[in-house]
Amino acid sequence: MSSRKRAMSLAELAPQVITGIDDLKATYGDWQSHEATHVDPQQVESVLGELIERLDADFPYFHPQYAGQMLKPPHPVAMAAYLATMQINPNNHSIDASRATTQMEHEVLDQLAAMFGLGEDYMGHLTWSGTTANLEALWICREIRPGAAIAHSADSHYTHSRMGEVLGIETVSIPTEADGRMSLDALEEVLRTREIGAVVATLGTTGLGAVDPLADIIPLARQYGARVHVDAAYGGFFTILQGELAPETARHYAAIAQSDSVVVDPHKHGLQPYGCGAVLFPDQSILRFYHHESPYTYFASTERHFGEIQLECSRGGASAAALWATLKVFPLTMSGLGAIIAPGYRAAQAWHGLISESDILQPYQRPETDIITYLPRVQTMRQLDEVSHAIFEMAAAPARPQQTHLATYVVKPEQLRMRGIAIEDDAPTARIMRSVLMKPEHEPLIPEMHHHVSMWSRRAYERVLAGEAALGA
Ligand SMILES: *Cc1c(COP(=O)(O)O)cnc(C)c1O
Repeated sequence: MSSRKRAMSLAELAPQVITGIDDLKATYGDWQSHEATHVDPQQVESVLGELIERLDADFPYFHPQYAGQMLKPPHPVAMAAYLATMQINPNNHSIDASRATTQMEHEVLDQLAAMFGLGEDYMGHLTWSGTTANLEALWICREIRPGAAIAHSADSHYTHSRMGEVLGIETVSIPTEADGRMSLDALEEVLRTREIGAVVATLGTTGLGAVDPLADIIPLARQYGARVHVDAAYGGFFTILQGELAPETARHYAAIAQSDSVVVDPHKHGLQPYGCGAVLFPDQSILRFYHHESPYTYFASTERHFGEIQLECSRGGASAAALWATLKVFPLTMSGLGAIIAPGYRAAQAWHGLISESDILQPYQRPETDIITYLPRVQTMRQLDEVSHAIFEMAAAPARPQQTHLATYVVKPEQLRMRGIAIEDDAPTARIMRSVLMKPEHEPLIPEMHHHVSMWSRRAYERVLAGEAALGA
């Protein structure tokens, strides 16, 4: 790392982009803002004060001690670029409405396509979300094979069955194996017996971070004439880390290059504010499905507008600008964005190691990405649920600087037994512990977090056993 590098805050970056855009506006001459837009400064100050107070109700997603759900704030570079562009508010729907940021979007799409190895003749665009990106990919599947069903794993994001309903496509859920990956045998059985137009492989499931066996799914799906869509909304940027991942995981990431479409969410691991997904197709021939005419939007340019090749209409140019600036500073390489994602991956592996050797905790499964799942060593489903919930609460109970924020994940007894965990079946489901370690700052905290979680787990289990003994007595 260059010695000139240091942490920078938005407060430090904001003046440059605010002054810069003010100067840019001034080149068009001054104008009077309309009275109707004027405000009472005291009222605005009080409203914004109230906003800050109300935001205090959130958990501290920005803090390394928040190791719960898939949440973290954007990088200050992304925020500054977004702030700069938002003041002009271009709309990447049409080139005329976004002359600068449509170009930036093409530049970031080239980088995303190159990361996945899709070749230069790809088609794609940013979206407001992973949901709309997946919707679009599934819509193309339906247009290519009307009437055929779509297969996805039981652990895939719920968006696939929901969007199947929206699109009027039947969806088929394929069971997962003990590693959380789609079962190839079950997939083959479904491909053999039903008309499947597309298989959705999730590279990094949202719950467990498990990577579906894409390199094996592709030849199997092709054999039965089905397309393969990759949902890498959460896990897409782990493609950069192929050199560090387990070889089997890396093999499936490498296979994204052979898929028919792929979705990635820069607003998850790409340091962006919400409102930034992406969908990419290696084959431009799917463009034939997008034909539409708009008499009011495309006027000054004959080049292709993003509005002509996406389901959404308006889309923020600020999102493209923020991602463009971020990738300038953190390119899609091991030493760029990879250096921000890798520590979370290592943190998950290190914590898994500690949990595997613990007498009070045990792993649910090995983390393939940066999501770790584990549980206290207890006898029954009810104890498991109670102890997990108690760990969650004890972690968040101290004064703010000492708090740790964890998350839970609901499992069934057969899912535990599949993973070799014996448990008495006295409840249909129970919570276990889950942490998304998506901030590089998590890595050095792992030994301490493990120590605390073990302590809380022991305390909670003793309490549960004492309660049971009192009831039995
Ligand atoms: C987050 C996620 C989605 C949904 O994306 P949004 O951006 O939240 O709409 C879909 N699939 C996977 C695998 C995800 O992790």
